[in-house]
Amino acid sequence: MEFPSGFLQHLASLPDYEASLFEQAHHAEVPVSIRYNPSKKKSSASTELTSVPWTTEGYYLPSRPLFTMDPLLHAGAYYVQEAGSMLLEQALKQSVDLNQSLKVLDLCAAPGGKSTLLQSLLSANSLLVANEVIQSRVNILKENLIKWGGMNVVITQNDPKDFQVLPGFFEVMVIDAPCSGSGLFRRDPSAMQEWSLSAIQLCVERQRRIIADTWSALSTDGILVYATCSFSKEENEAQVDWILNQFDVESVPLKMQEQWGIRQTITENHGYAYRCWPHLSKGEGFFMAVFRKKSIQEVIPIKTKNKNLITAATAQSLASFVQSSISLSWVMQGKYIAAVLPEHLSLIQFLMERLRVRYAGVEAGQLLHNEWIPEPALALASAMQPNRELVELDENKAIAFLRKESFMIEGVSKGWQWVGYQSLGLGWIKFLGNRLNNYHPSSWRIRMNA
Ligand code: SAM
Repeated sequence: MEFPSGFLQHLASLPDYEASLFEQAHHAEVPVSIRYNPSKKKSSASTELTSVPWTTEGYYLPSRPLFTMDPLLHAGAYYVQEAGSMLLEQALKQSVDLNQSLKVLDLCAAPGGKSTLLQSLLSANSLLVANEVIQSRVNILKENLIKWGGMNVVITQNDPKDFQVLPGFFEVMVIDAPCSGSGLFRRDPSAMQEWSLSAIQLCVERQRRIIADTWSALSTDGILVYATCSFSKEENEAQVDWILNQFDVESVPLKMQEQWGIRQTITENHGYAYRCWPHLSKGEGFFMAVFRKKSIQEVIPIKTKNKNLITAATAQSLASFVQSSISLSWVMQGKYIAAVLPEHLSLIQFLMERLRVRYAGVEAGQLLHNEWIPEPALALASAMQPNRELVELDENKAIAFLRKESFMIEGVSKGWQWVGYQSLGLGWIKFLGNRLNNYHPSSWRIRMNA
C-alpha cells in the first residue's frame, strides 16, 4: 500500500503510532465485522463467531462473504460495520442511563452505521433523530434505518445550524464528523487520493463549525460524543482541546479493558480521548471523545399545532392491515401514513414543524381509492406487523424478490402478500392468480450478478 506523501511523517509524533506495526497492519487482511439487530436476531446466529469485545452484538467473520446476496442483510438482521465504530456503545453505556427515555441526535448519520447501533442501544420510548445534510445520502440512511425496523426514529435532512431552533432539546448528541478519513485507508485505499494537510485543515474548520452550530441543541448535563475516522491529531485531540476551551463542558473518561487494545490519550487541556489503531486492536482507525455540558441551557417548550393527524375512518381501515401488541398513533407524511409511539406523537409533530423531516416512525402505507397500498417499512418493522401471515421464501426466491424479478409461489391467495426469509419480513408482492407483481423498491434492488 502506497501512502500519500507526508502521511506517515504526519503520524510519527503520535503516542501509540508504531511505524512498522502500523504499516504491517495496512498490508494485512482487513477484518470483517457485523453487528446483529437484537430485535431481529436469530437464536442460531453468532454461536461460532468471535465477538467484538467492546460490544454485545458485534462479531468478526472469518472472511468476507458476498453480503449483497444474503437476504438476511436486506431483512435488517445485521449491519456490516467496522469494529472500531462499535466503540460508540461504550460511550453511551458509560455516560448515560440507557433505561431512561432520551432524545438523541445523530447529526452526521448517513449511511446509518451509528444510527442503527444507537437505535439498538436506546430504550423503546427514546427518540432517535438521525440527520444527514447531504440530500444524495439521505436515501441510503433511510433504507438502512427502515430495514433495521425500529419505530422510535426520525430522519431529518438539515444543516447543523438548523438545530438552533431546538435549544436544549437533546440529552445526547453524536457528531461522527466528516473527516479526512485516514482511519479507513486500509479498507478503502481510494480515499488516499484526497488526503493532504490542507484538506485536514478544511476538515478541522468544518468540524468546529458543526459543533458550534449545534451546541445549543444539547441540554444541560447532556452528552456529546465526538468521533472521527481520522488518525490526525488536528481532527482529534486538538478538537477535544478546542471544545474544552470553547464551551462549558467536562471531558468524560471511559473505562476500556486493557486487552481491547483501545488507547486512551490525555490531551493538553486534560481531556480524555480514545483511539482505535489497526495495529493495536482488530478494526480500522477510529477516534472518540465524550463530553458533558455544564452550562445552563434554556429548553424549548414542546408545543404543537396537532397537524398531520389521520381521520377516524382511515384509522379504522388501518386495523385490517396492521397489528401491534403495543398501542400506536398515526401521522400523515405526505401521502403516506406512519405509525409512531403515542408518547412520540407530539415530539414528532413538533419536529415536523421545525425541521425537514424525511421520515418518522414506520410508514405503513397509503390509502388509494379505498385500497391499502402497503409500504416496505411495514414489512420490515419489528415493533408492529402486517395483519397477515408471512409467506416464507426460500433463498432463491428471496433473491429473486430482492432483484425485483417476477417468480411464482404456490398456495397463496390473491392480493397483497407479506414475503420474507427465515421468518423475517422482506417486503410485499401482489399475487394476481397467474402472476405476481413485485413491490420491492427499485432503488433497493440487487443489481449484482453472482
Ligand atoms: N455516522 C455515519 C455512520 O456511522 O454510518 C458516518 C458519517 S460520515 C463519517 C460523516 C457524514 O457527515 C457524512 O454522511 C457526510 O455527508 C456528512 N457531512 C458532510 N458535511 C457535513 C456538514 N457540513 N455538516 C454535517 N454533516 C456533514
